[in-house]
Amino acid sequence: MNYKQIIKNAEIIVKANSGKKLEDACVSEVYCAISRAVMAEIAEGWNKGVTNGKKRVGYLSAEFLIGRSIYANLFNLGILNGVKEELALRGMDITMFEDIEDAALGNGGLGRLAACYLESGASVNIPLDGYGIRYRYGLFRQRIEDGFQREVADDWQKAGDPWSFRKDDESVTVSFADYKVKAVPYDMPVIGYGGNTINTLRLWQSEEADDFDFDLFNEMKTQVIATRKVRAEEICYVLYPNDSTEKGRLLRLRQEYFFTSATIQDLVRKHKASGKPLEKLHESLSLQLNDTHPVFAIPELIRLLMEENMTFNKAFEISRKVFNFTNHTIMGEALERWDMRRVKKLIPQIARVLRMMQKHIEKNLQNEKLFIIKDETVHMANVAIYCSSATNGVAQLHTDILKQDTFKDWYEVYPERFKNVTNGITPRRWLAVCNEEFSSLITEYIGDGWQNNLERLAELAKFVDDEKFVAKFKAMKQAKKQQLSDFILKREGVEIPSNFMFDIQVKRLHEYKRQLLNAFSILYYYFEIKEGRMPDFKPTAFIFGAKAAPGYYNAKAIIKFINCIAEKVNNDPDTKDKLRVVFVSDYNVSYAEKIFCAADVSEQISTAGFEASGTGNMKFMLNGTVTLGTMDGANVEICEEAGKENEYIFGADVEEVARVKKDYKPYEVYMADKDLKRIVDTLDDGTFNDNGTGMLASLKQSLFGGWSADHYLVLHDFRSYIQVKTQLLNDYGSEEFTRKCIINASKAGKFSSDRSVKEYAKNIWKL
Ligand SMILES: *Cc1c(COP(=O)(O)O)cnc(C)c1O
Repeated sequence: MNYKQIIKNAEIIVKANSGKKLEDACVSEVYCAISRAVMAEIAEGWNKGVTNGKKRVGYLSAEFLIGRSIYANLFNLGILNGVKEELALRGMDITMFEDIEDAALGNGGLGRLAACYLESGASVNIPLDGYGIRYRYGLFRQRIEDGFQREVADDWQKAGDPWSFRKDDESVTVSFADYKVKAVPYDMPVIGYGGNTINTLRLWQSEEADDFDFDLFNEMKTQVIATRKVRAEEICYVLYPNDSTEKGRLLRLRQEYFFTSATIQDLVRKHKASGKPLEKLHESLSLQLNDTHPVFAIPELIRLLMEENMTFNKAFEISRKVFNFTNHTIMGEALERWDMRRVKKLIPQIARVLRMMQKHIEKNLQNEKLFIIKDETVHMANVAIYCSSATNGVAQLHTDILKQDTFKDWYEVYPERFKNVTNGITPRRWLAVCNEEFSSLITEYIGDGWQNNLERLAELAKFVDDEKFVAKFKAMKQAKKQQLSDFILKREGVEIPSNFMFDIQVKRLHEYKRQLLNAFSILYYYFEIKEGRMPDFKPTAFIFGAKAAPGYYNAKAIIKFINCIAEKVNNDPDTKDKLRVVFVSDYNVSYAEKIFCAADVSEQISTAGFEASGTGNMKFMLNGTVTLGTMDGANVEICEEAGKENEYIFGADVEEVARVKKDYKPYEVYMADKDLKRIVDTLDDGTFNDNGTGMLASLKQSLFGGWSADHYLVLHDFRSYIQVKTQLLNDYGSEEFTRKCIINASKAGKFSSDRSVKEYAKNIWKL
């Protein structure tokens, strides 16, 4: 692609829109103009040449955590540097686009995975399209006020949405019992590395089904007009932050049916238009369900096939061949269920199909443990497993747990349906674009081509003892740390000296991810240093970033706790030369791109068995970082790839967690360890002020009270964590430590999402 032409076209667009010269336009004008110029350029090649009448795959997901598109798209088209130069010639700095909001149409790992998979699909030439919801407001923006999280609406389209085409003529109608809405598709290009394949992310927007009602207007019934508009549009108003309260569950149900019905109608219509019989739908279509949120697509397809005069049995059989299901969690409370009375009230046409599915399973399996509906509750994961060809977990350990535990009864009946596809991340966004310094160093030593063949990073292993290479690696890391330090100072007003070790934990705030354990360790070091027991402690900055679901009380308490610790530690003259703590606000994809590449330590400390895979762990590894973690999720495979001796592993493994849980007495652990007791007691002994909310004291209570006391074994794993973390702190700065960092990067090849999507293509979609 000719970047000079793109800029010329952008100049014309700006002139046409505002009469200005490109260099006089504001950031969002320049952003829109360049994006639109690219859209014009790619329009013709988009979606062409990839299928040749063969099978296409749809990736259905309620979340796509896209982040910012402009840099990654320009990079994949090979014009990022060219555009940067052209802008510089006009006195503009391409980093100005960092003012453009992220498209945060997802919560965290699950949504980001969907975005990585689409990018990889296009990059390895797989005909993979995404289908989701065009939320008006994405995941809330986070402000930290007086140490507390406050949520602010995320207006991600503030600068416009130049990376979408609205396709009015492809709208469909979605029917609920009480009213109908129009689903309007917005198509975003998914540009693969090299720009040869461009797939589509189709996001549906809900609008009023009927045209403006002039009669109502003439009767002055404007209230009725407004109500109709709102009830249609509110379906897409907000992305639900996971773990939020019951409120709005009905709207969530509408969202799920809305986007799956629109998608299935769209695909069936296209298939019919191609002239092929519906009996052969599975030969040209595979659909991947990203967790249970899109599972209504199954009864919807059966329903539509039956409307085409197919029998239920036949429709079921074809649907089973079309669908595949990815499970993302083993936490029982997170397995989605719906009250059938609710389903019937809102979407009776789907309730009917679900009941037929229940009859079908009763007749075919005669196994009481396997059901679709039980006690008037539909179990969405069961619907998905029963009517699909494959169910997969997202890391080897996770898949093993699914087989042995979560879906044991299903596995006994359908062993061949259970597969593993370990998650991955795109090396374009998570290395090439976000870490130009490391990228050019890699290319200098092993040449180009690793960007879409990540296993080639193994060639770096030759240079772990090459003094020049090691020095350059260290300089790279130092440069990235300085950049992050500058950014944090600007954004948070907190000074983090770049010569400190950077120990980083960024991910959603959840008790199982155990940010609390990390916080306890900081207090441990604080007391040790302050009281002179650790004179050789190397200066360390503990960096956190995390959003808590708005209704998740304990998670919010942990944020407040970390901020209390930060204030204390950063301002204490006895420790400020050794310790810094910062909780960065509004952690999102764009912030992540600055963080992962600046880390010395990657904290992956979830209770074993709870983190299905993790992908943050892979982003750190790829950028040359050691993992301080438990034997959980993909950490296990990271150890396999890099060698356990190159990571810092601690704590109970899955077996030990099960054993400990049988007779766990957290209060006794606390009473027996006076350091730990002192640390835990800071939650309610007046050390910190939580503005009278009682949040911190109740956090302490959650460690002792009730049946689920210290459910995530924070107290149990504390000593093991401290021991290994202290060892790591001692190792930091040594040649051996740098060696471990380099080995990690060199062994990260497996974790490319190119590998993941190829496994899906081969083992699940059978392309
Ligand atoms: C990768 C990523 C995640 C997932 O992080 P985990 O540590 O795997 O939970 C969440 N949010 C953002 C913004 C990410 O980039």
